[in-house]
Amino acid sequence: MITQSGNTDLAQRDTKVLWHPCTQMKDHEAWPPIPIRRAEGVWLEDYDGNRYLDAISSWWVNLFGHANPRINAAIADQLGTLEQVMLSGFTHEPVIQLSERLIAITPEGLDRCFFADNGSSAVEIAMKMSFHFWQNNGRPGKKRFVNLANAYHGETLGALSVCDVPLYKATYGPLLLDVITAPSPDCYHREPEQSWEEYSRQQFATMEKILSQRHDEICAVIVEPLVQGAGFMRMYHPVYLQLLREACDRYEVHLIADEIATGFGRTGTLFACEQASITPDFMCLSKGITGGYLPLSVVLTTEKIYQAFYDDFINLTGFLHSHTYTGNPLACRAALATLDIFEEDNVIEHNKTLAARMARATAHFNEHPHVAEVRQSGMILAIEIVKHKQTKDPFPWQERRGRRAFRHAMEQGVVLRPMGDVIYFMPPYVITEEEIDWMARVAFDSICKATETT
Ligand SMILES: *Cc1c(COP(=O)(O)O)cnc(C)c1O
Repeated sequence: MITQSGNTDLAQRDTKVLWHPCTQMKDHEAWPPIPIRRAEGVWLEDYDGNRYLDAISSWWVNLFGHANPRINAAIADQLGTLEQVMLSGFTHEPVIQLSERLIAITPEGLDRCFFADNGSSAVEIAMKMSFHFWQNNGRPGKKRFVNLANAYHGETLGALSVCDVPLYKATYGPLLLDVITAPSPDCYHREPEQSWEEYSRQQFATMEKILSQRHDEICAVIVEPLVQGAGFMRMYHPVYLQLLREACDRYEVHLIADEIATGFGRTGTLFACEQASITPDFMCLSKGITGGYLPLSVVLTTEKIYQAFYDDFINLTGFLHSHTYTGNPLACRAALATLDIFEEDNVIEHNKTLAARMARATAHFNEHPHVAEVRQSGMILAIEIVKHKQTKDPFPWQERRGRRAFRHAMEQGVVLRPMGDVIYFMPPYVITEEEIDWMARVAFDSICKATETT
């Protein structure tokens, strides 16, 4: 039973019994977690009645606002018929329909869907499938993965192995797979006169070398197309993906596109791979897939990969991987309702207007003495805060400037949750242009306050 409480009361009860994700719990002594009572559209409301604009879509999942009537109705309808059935040996219409529709909207050639319930699991599945494919094809030597510097692919041990963010990875090094890391195409460190395309192309040279020399031991390359999300929203040019696709074909190496963050319109196209006109061998989707309602993930792959596992049981070539809640019907209905909204509301077109507004609202940020870069890919806009603008020398990380900005923004009612000193917007697509302007004003003010000396 739920009692009427205020923020303080709930925060105190919380910190006695909970252990929060991605949090040094001691931080909560000074800054308790904020209990959210309800949410609607882009707004979160706490137990004291304060409202906050959800500028990062509740960790990048929410696309069409909280309590969206159309998604609510779809889930409610599904609740009345079937809440869950195991997907091994059984099936149901929502998961079939969702598979059909995902195959229709993803790049040509992705024809099979394997479901799970979170992003990290989807990455693990793609990795296992790739490795297993080469096993089934008599190439047992192909067992290593290539990732990009600054990559993020999740937190479970396999997914963490292909990450390259030291803050999350360093401690667990002894437990992880030995991967080969190529330099990132991320354009932040390009020379002032260099274009994104030139820089990303130049960064590909090492990847080409790795693949040419070591393809016999490599099963797959994994990348986040166009935007390295948890790696501080670093961005690169689509040419890198084209070069990578060609090289993977040449050297018989799979390409895994982790579109868990970039999928469903975040980079301006429905999927980031579209901007390079490529089809990966595996595409991982999660986060926005249910409009931010329920946990669901999927790995799409090609008929060729699927066929390498298709045989009589006794030959033991099957992919015997499972998660209990795989393809949950409620989550699938939320996903179907989300896809309906994309179609009915012409969302990708409408987002162009919102993206342009975000650019305009932040155009003057570049002149701020502590802003090194404002970069954008569709509905993601990131602002890099540094100590020295010219040299891009960062503030000492111990000063936690980004966190200061976060606090200032929260006081004014905007949820910006910076990564290090990178402040970013990744709002729900139902945000209005006026709300964008206001969000940008609050962000600018918070940046000013957070970068004042000491
Ligand atoms: C969030 C994320 C993941 C992990 O998804 P979880 O559901 O948190 O396990 C993997 N890859 C990318 C690119 C992500 O942004």
